[in-house]
Amino acid sequence: MLCQQCGFQLPENSKFCHKCGSAMANNAQQAEQAQPLPQPQPQPQQQIQQQPENAPVVGENKSKIGIILGIVGSVIAVGGIIFVLFITTCRYDSCFGRKIIGGYYCSKHACIDPDCTNGGYSHWYKDVPIYCGIHLCFADENCLERSLDGGSFCLDHTCIELGCLERSNLELNGRRYKNYCITHTCRKSDCTQRRFDGSGSCEIHVCKEPDCLSDSSYEIGDRYYENYCITHTCHKTDCTQRKFDGSLWCEKHTCKEFDCFYETLSNSEYCLLHN
Ligand SMILES: [Zn+2]
Ligand SMILES: [Zn+2]
Ligand SMILES: [Zn+2]
Ligand SMILES: [Zn+2]
Ligand SMILES: [Zn+2]
Ligand SMILES: [Zn+2]
Ligand SMILES: [Zn+2]
Ligand SMILES: [Zn+2]
Repeated sequence: MLCQQCGFQLPENSKFCHKCGSAMANNAQQAEQAQPLPQPQPQPQQQIQQQPENAPVVGENKSKIGIILGIVGSVIAVGGIIFVLFITTCRYDSCFGRKIIGGYYCSKHACIDPDCTNGGYSHWYKDVPIYCGIHLCFADENCLERSLDGGSFCLDHTCIELGCLERSNLELNGRRYKNYCITHTCRKSDCTQRRFDGSGSCEIHVCKEPDCLSDSSYEIGDRYYENYCITHTCHKTDCTQRKFDGSLWCEKHTCKEFDCFYETLSNSEYCLLHN
């Protein structure tokens, strides 16, 4: 076909002249109808390049706005989905379980304390719901009990002394602590009894002298102190009796002479002076 304006030779059904840009009025309708057909036609490209009118530009703007709105819409939609997932999905790494009501974790990953919103602690390798780091007994990894309020250990691993929250039930430096913590356990190495108030020893292992809180029942060198502390034990080696008042020796090993406090001779009741 020929352009009616400039006479340029055009392919059949051209909408516009490739040379002068004039619209081919009688073909436009046909072309529109023909558009869905699979015939390959170069017109649309030409149309954009050569059409000086404003109309297509407005259309372009409209479609740009449409695209932008579409993008914004999908961003909002995706954001919304992410947000919904965020507020409903367990916070635990790579867990998509539903949060428990009022919590941040799913029932598998939430602290099993009903009033706690923390995640359970290191249970991922055991795969059982347990207490969080605050509520789990800290004694050892095998204890899954709840720690006492304000403390770090469960009932079994806490000193039974009233008000004491220290660890009990442990082994340290080769010795065993059972019901009481280190501070409240008798100093004597194989004893697990409670310390006598103000003393380092239990009631059995504290000096028998009234008001004396020193340790008894221990060895120094080759000497053994049994019932009394060093201060209150007779100076005679192998004797574990209480010192006689005013003397360094016990009643048996103090000279029987009145007001004499010397040590008796062996096989005698008197000292060297009074023998
Ligand atoms: Zn979870
Ligand atoms: Zn907790
Ligand atoms: Zn425990
Ligand atoms: Zn204690
Ligand atoms: Zn003791
Ligand atoms: Zn004593
Ligand atoms: Zn003695
Ligand atoms: Zn004497």
